Amino acid sequence: MSDLIALLGARIPANLAPFMLANVAVPAVRGLPHGADVVARRLGCPCGSWELKLRTARRRERRGLFGRRMVAAPVAPVYAACPVCGREVLLFDPAVHGWNGRHGRGIRPDADDEAWFGTAAGEVIVTYAYLAEDEYRAMLADGCPDPQDWFDCFAVVFCATGAPPVLVLADECATRRETRV
Ligand SMILES: [Zn+2]
Repeated sequence: MSDLIALLGARIPANLAPFMLANVAVPAVRGLPHGADVVARRLGCPCGSWELKLRTARRRERRGLFGRRMVAAPVAPVYAACPVCGREVLLFDPAVHGWNGRHGRGIRPDADDEAWFGTAAGEVIVTYAYLAEDEYRAMLADGCPDPQDWFDCFAVVFCATGAPPVLVLADECATRRETRV
C-alpha cells in the first residue's frame, strides 16, 4: 500500500459518511479490481445493523449470444436501506458523487425503472481506488479539501446470507481493469 492510499484511504468519502464502516478484504468477485491500492469497506447502519438492502435503478440491456437475452441491469443511483430501523440513504449516484472525476448531468445512464436488489438484506461492501496517483498528489499539494471524494473504480458488492458475493454496480474503470488482468 502506497503512502497515498494510506492517506486517502483513511479519509471517508462523503457518500459513505452516513454509514458505519468496517475495513474488509476485497471480495472475490469477477469484474472487481484487486490489489493493495483498492479500498474495501463493509457498510452498516448507525442503528447497529450490518445487513442492508439495496435498491437500484435498472436499465434494460441486451446480453448473451447475439444479444438475444434481455436483462434488467442495475445502474446508479443505488440506495441502501436498513431492514431494522427503516433508514434509507443514497449510497451512490455519479451525478452527485462523481464517476471517474466527472460530476453532474449526463454522467448517469437513463434508467427504465428501479427495483430492490434481491429480496433480503445482506452484506454490502463498496470498493474504490485512487489510481491516478500523480493527480491525487497534485490535488493534495493544491490544498484540495476533499481528495477522498474523487475516487475512481467505485463498485458495490452485495452478499446475501449463504450466497457468494455479487457485483451490483461498477464503473467502466473497474471493467477495463478486469479485461487487462
Ligand atoms: Zn438501521
